[in-house]
Amino acid sequence: MTQTITVFRGDGIGPEITDAVLTILQEAKADLAFEIFDVGEAVYHKTGFFIPENGLESFRQNKILLKSPITTPIGKGFRSLNVTLRNQFDLWANIRPAKSNPCLDTLYKNIDIVTFRENTEDLYIGEEKKIDEDTVIAIKKITRTASQRIIRAAFEYCRRHHRKKCTCVHKANILKQTDGLFLSLFQEIAKDYPEIQANDLIVDNTCMQLVMHPQQFDVMVMPNLYGDIISDLTSGLIGGLGLLPSCNKGDEYAMYEAVHGSAPDIAGKGIANPTALLLSSCMMLDDIGQIKTAKTIRTALDQVFSKKQALTPDLGGQASTKEFVEAILQEI
Ligand code: NAD
Repeated sequence: MTQTITVFRGDGIGPEITDAVLTILQEAKADLAFEIFDVGEAVYHKTGFFIPENGLESFRQNKILLKSPITTPIGKGFRSLNVTLRNQFDLWANIRPAKSNPCLDTLYKNIDIVTFRENTEDLYIGEEKKIDEDTVIAIKKITRTASQRIIRAAFEYCRRHHRKKCTCVHKANILKQTDGLFLSLFQEIAKDYPEIQANDLIVDNTCMQLVMHPQQFDVMVMPNLYGDIISDLTSGLIGGLGLLPSCNKGDEYAMYEAVHGSAPDIAGKGIANPTALLLSSCMMLDDIGQIKTAKTIRTALDQVFSKKQALTPDLGGQASTKEFVEAILQEI
C-alpha cells in the first residue's frame, strides 16, 4: 500500500536537498505519496509561523515526517523548532548511524557506530534563569523514565542487529545525581542483556578515544547534550556532516532528518550534499518495509562514491548538487 508521508522542505540548504531526495525517491520507485510543506524562515516572513499548522496536522495524520534542516532563530522567546518538534511528538530516541563508506577518502575505514541520543530532556528543556547581574543558570533534567527507555532501546537494537557492545557515555564523576542516575540505570538494564558487552566512559575521554581508536565503539547511548556533540564527532570520522543520517522515534511518530543544520554558508550555491537526508530517507524506507528500494538507493550511492566523478565539494569534489543527483539517477 502506498505510504503517505509528510515532508518539510526546511530553509537554508533544506529546499535544495529535499528536492534532490524526492527526485531520487521517485526515480527509485519508492511507493510513497508526499504532502510537502515549506517551513522555516521564508515561511515565517510571510505568515508569522515557522511551521504552518496544516504541516503539523499532516504529520499528526501520517505519523512519518521527512524533515530538512530548519534554522534556529536567534533571540529571546524562540525555542529551537527541532527541539519543539521532538517534544511535541514525543520523539524520544534519536538514532544516528555513522558508517564509513570504503569508497570515500575518510579519516578512518571500518567505522560502524550507532549513537542513541536521549531526545527530550537534559539541558534541552530550555529552563534558563537569570539569578542576578552576574549569574545565569540552566537546568539539566534527567528522569528515570526517559533514561530507561533510551537505554533499553539501545540494548534492544544491539540484540536485533547482532551488535556486540553497548557503551554508556556520561559525566557521572561530576554530575553525580543526574548523570549518576543515567549510569546506574544503564548498569541495571545491562544485566538483562548478558550477551552484549556493556561498558561506560566519561564524555571527555570518549572524545579522545573516538579520535584515537574509533573502531572500539559499536552502539553508544547517552543523555541529550552529549549525543548532540558526539554524533557530530562521529560524522567527522566518516567524512563529515553531509553524510550522517538520523531518525527521531517515539512510540507513535517518526521523523527522519539529516544530522546537519541549514548550512547558511553554502545555501543557494547549489553545492549542498544531499546524502545525509537521502540516507535518512533510506532509514525511513527500511522502517516502513520498503527495504528493496532502500537497497537500490544505497547501491546507486555507493556506485557514485566509488567512481568519484560527481562528488560535492564537502567530499573533495567539484560537482553541484544537481550533477550529484544526476549521477545517482544514472545508477538506479
Ligand atoms: P550546519 O550543520 O548547518 O553546518 C556546519 C558546517 O557543515 C557548515 O560549514 C556547512 O556548510 C557544512 N554542511 C552541513 N551540511 C552540509 C551538507 N549537506 N553539504 C555540505 N556541507 C554541509 O551547522 P550550523 O552552521 O552550526 O547551523 C546552521 C543552522 O542550522 C543553525 O540555525 C542551527 O541551529 C540549525 N540546525 C538545525 C538542525 C536541524 O534542523 N535538525 C540541526 C543542526 C543545526
